[in-house]
Amino acid sequence: MAARIGFVGLGIMGQPMAQNLVEAGHELVLYNRTREKAEELANEGGAEVADSPKEVAEKSDVIITMLPDSPQVEEVVAGEGGLFEGIKEGTLLVDMSTISPMVTEELAAEAKERGASMLDAPVSGGQPGAEEGTLSIMVGGSEEDFERAKPLFDVMGSAATHVGPTGAGQVVKACNQIVVALTIEAVSEALVLGSKAGVKPEKVVEALSGSLAGSAVMEAKKEKFFDRDFDPGFRIELHHKDLGIALATGREYGVSLPVTAIVDQMLEALKAKGRGDRDHSAILTQIEDLAQHEVGKGS
Ligand code: NAP
Repeated sequence: MAARIGFVGLGIMGQPMAQNLVEAGHELVLYNRTREKAEELANEGGAEVADSPKEVAEKSDVIITMLPDSPQVEEVVAGEGGLFEGIKEGTLLVDMSTISPMVTEELAAEAKERGASMLDAPVSGGQPGAEEGTLSIMVGGSEEDFERAKPLFDVMGSAATHVGPTGAGQVVKACNQIVVALTIEAVSEALVLGSKAGVKPEKVVEALSGSLAGSAVMEAKKEKFFDRDFDPGFRIELHHKDLGIALATGREYGVSLPVTAIVDQMLEALKAKGRGDRDHSAILTQIEDLAQHEVGKGS
């Protein structure tokens, strides 16, 4: 009998990821806090809706979770009516949320005690990557479990990399989020300086693109900067959560992350200003506030 895939968390990312698995012919058991979202997907066929994470675990051989942060993953996995209450021996739990590597290690140890195993497999590529099945997936855990989950990763993503043991996937995702946030902040400083000194933002980006300063982040976000279009995308509040994970991981391992801490504080300020639901390219507006200058189109 084909393996049944449990899926918990049908948000911006989880919904299209689960949909792609259904379309690839997998049989899914769904749970979502807001039940209607699970029912919508199940109505298209190829999936059934469970009443609790526990029921998902009872009916599945592999379980994927896609939830906001560590507390929600802990609640769904180890809380009352959670996955651990129904998990079977030999089940593989694949947490694709971005959470703390330390929490991941604790949950993986508990899974092992129950005869199950766990991979941490956070993603990058955002909503478009989830919809198109082109996510980049960073995986921590055993080689054997990675190979077992690889056919599913190949449906949801275009590049799944086994980066090391349990927790390593989350560590690499934290590294990824540091580079993305700090690059957006650096490009923002460049655009505000250029603009206030009289150089058009399009010209700054055009020139930087051909130099060592060019980057994938700048290319991906340039239109949002030019158009001052800060609709998400990836929300400030989620990136703030991710820098919190990076800073806590730095503290755990005795690594100073000075510039990450500064950008973390900028994100905190943006949340306080009511911009937490804006795209992370809105870091630009924090630099604009400091300079008392708005980067206008063509100015
Ligand atoms: P989201 O749209 O906010 O979805 C979160 C999901 O978790 C929803 O299904 C929500 O259920 C469920 N949930 C929240 N709290 C819960 C709880 N206490 N118990 C049970 N279910 C709960 O988030 P997302 O954008 O899909 O992000 C998911 C993860 O992917 C995050 O870790 C994020 O950092 C990461 N990520 C996101 C992006 C992106 O561009 N969005 C990119 C890369 C990685 P309801 O439907 O009831 O609200």
